[in-house]
Amino acid sequence: MLFGAHVSSAGGIWQAIDRAEAMGCDAVQVFTQSPRMWRPTDHTPEAVARFRERREEAEIKSVVCHALYLVNLASPDPEIYGKSIAAMRASLEVADTIGAEGVIFHVGSHLGAGFEAGLEHVVPALRELLELTTDDLWLLMENSAGAGGTIGRSTDELAAIHDALDHHPRLGLCLDSCHLYVSGVDVADKVILDAAVAEIDDRIGLDRLRCLHVNDSKAPLGSNLDRHETTGAGLIGDEGLRTFLAQPAFQELPAILETPGPDGHGPDVAEVAHLRTLFGR
Ligand SMILES: [Zn+2]
Ligand SMILES: [Zn+2]
Repeated sequence: MLFGAHVSSAGGIWQAIDRAEAMGCDAVQVFTQSPRMWRPTDHTPEAVARFRERREEAEIKSVVCHALYLVNLASPDPEIYGKSIAAMRASLEVADTIGAEGVIFHVGSHLGAGFEAGLEHVVPALRELLELTTDDLWLLMENSAGAGGTIGRSTDELAAIHDALDHHPRLGLCLDSCHLYVSGVDVADKVILDAAVAEIDDRIGLDRLRCLHVNDSKAPLGSNLDRHETTGAGLIGDEGLRTFLAQPAFQELPAILETPGPDGHGPDVAEVAHLRTLFGR
């Protein structure tokens, strides 16, 4: 397993590598632009070159990008839908230039119109975006917490998208422990976790699973509330996260923290070290 964290790329995208190195990471996740603004960040060729150089020096083995929070590929609003596709294109372009292995995205919300109606927007958008992927750069769909009509709350929903895209070879999956837990899968229970993984294998294929988000949860099992907690401090707890990290299908994956950390500014060096101890190294 590769251990890492979501880190800020403020001040220049290469600084994400500096921060990840200081935290003792093998893997890193970054935003390619401000996640709460549509306007893309212009990364200079120098910034990109420095990112690649620093990645080599810091021996960061996996880099993934996270798409904007604003993206909603299921939106019935043509303006939001168009902006979402454009933003995803921009993320994929930056990901390609920096040499990232994946762009992780939340599918979005059908906003009450229903899953089938949402799928009619999601599928053509993804078909278009998958054209920009390569053997080295995949799109990675993240399972959702299940709030407010969000799509991707269950293996059924994730598999329906895969089915509708004829199991596109570069559409992968990122599993978030907190989102699984609040959508009703008790990842702290080995039997339940094993069954969930077997279902993913059966319906989608474990070869599609390319990344983990390791977050504890402030909100209860099945609550559909997306409230990340520092690992060990939430309702999944250290023992539960140990069970999650021990899942045989997860052993080669990057495991990324997206937690609030001790001061609300994200995970720190101590939490990355803690994550390693939960894995048993
Ligand atoms: Zn996540
Ligand atoms: Zn979340």
